[in-house]
Amino acid sequence: MKSRDCKKDFPFFSNESITYLDNAATTQKPQVVLDAVNAYYTHYCSNTHRGSHDLGNQATIAYEKSREVIAQFIGAESRELVFTRGTTEAINLVAQSFVAGNFSTVLLSHLEHHSNILPWQMHGLNIEVIPMDDNLNIDIEGFHELLQENPKSFVSITHISNAFGIINPVKELIALAHEYECVVLIDGAQALAHTTIDVKDINADFYAVSAHKVYGPTGIGALYGKYELLSQMPPYQGGGSMIKDVTFHDATFLDPPLRFEAGTQAIAQVIGFAAAVNYLSSIEDSQSHDKELMDYAKSELKRIDNVILYSEAENVCGNISFTLHGIHHDDIAILLSKQKIMLRSGHHCALPIMRTLGIEGTVRLSFAIYNSKEDIDLTIEALYKAIKMLS
Ligand code: PMP
Repeated sequence: MKSRDCKKDFPFFSNESITYLDNAATTQKPQVVLDAVNAYYTHYCSNTHRGSHDLGNQATIAYEKSREVIAQFIGAESRELVFTRGTTEAINLVAQSFVAGNFSTVLLSHLEHHSNILPWQMHGLNIEVIPMDDNLNIDIEGFHELLQENPKSFVSITHISNAFGIINPVKELIALAHEYECVVLIDGAQALAHTTIDVKDINADFYAVSAHKVYGPTGIGALYGKYELLSQMPPYQGGGSMIKDVTFHDATFLDPPLRFEAGTQAIAQVIGFAAAVNYLSSIEDSQSHDKELMDYAKSELKRIDNVILYSEAENVCGNISFTLHGIHHDDIAILLSKQKIMLRSGHHCALPIMRTLGIEGTVRLSFAIYNSKEDIDLTIEALYKAIKMLS
């Protein structure tokens, strides 16, 4: 199916005459995802990996089959995919179980989301920031120098910036970091919906994703980890389902990934996550559609007087950020919302880069497969009205 034909699959749009351009925050859900979640609750609601009754087995099979689908979607093996609550929890898991106590320094890019800053700070790690150029691209030479000064560090970089749409050249960055014996995590929260991910090809050590950014349920995501790394890591939390044996004084744990999935898992969400990934796989042109929307939005925004565009790098996708001289970004978002255009204003959980640029925030348009050029036209029209009212 082509992107232009998919809007009908999303019940949200049959109920609401809304232009939804806040997809980097979360996406709408197609009927197939709602159906998959509903089918679990209606027909085989049961806990996984526990009892020996048929329903429990059915739920376990669906849960593990979902793991297979999602792992395959990013080029991983099932045993390398740990379910978490999302990207945030995946990064916290790595910070606690792998990085804390083993590394002293973490190298981050300027574009990181707070989810890829705070876990390192909270474990007392020294943070070094990789230099960037005027278009917000990582400065490869600067990265090289930082690696020379900080070999054997942990490196954690976003694949695609949620605030500016910049795509980082992760394969190249990982190869360089490995030359200096660093271990690398890629924050793929924005990438899952907008690029093809092959964790083996890019040779990531860890890769973190969230289902809700890719048409799946909230409260579920995953951590990919190379099996030899996951095998060395202690559990992140303790509870049911992750042990081989327990006494009051000791315990032994299951192998990964179950070692990291303590307690009753988000079973329905996992099943919905797999349905979302299958649905996205059925869209033939999601990436070229995204590029078309990005190019069109950029060219339309550039026509507006006093617009400052922050997504000028060559390699951008998914979202585009701008400010307007003399007008507060929140005022724009509020006036657009009144015209039924939902987009995001603010710092997008990326305060450090906003500070570096000397701004408080931006207005951000972020795209999904169901968006069209018409959505951009409506937004630009509403934007002109808002500017007129605010000038
Ligand atoms: N990293 C990036 C780049 C993101 O865009 C987000 C979500 N905005 C996150 C991490 C955190 O994802 P989640 O809230 O789903 O855990």
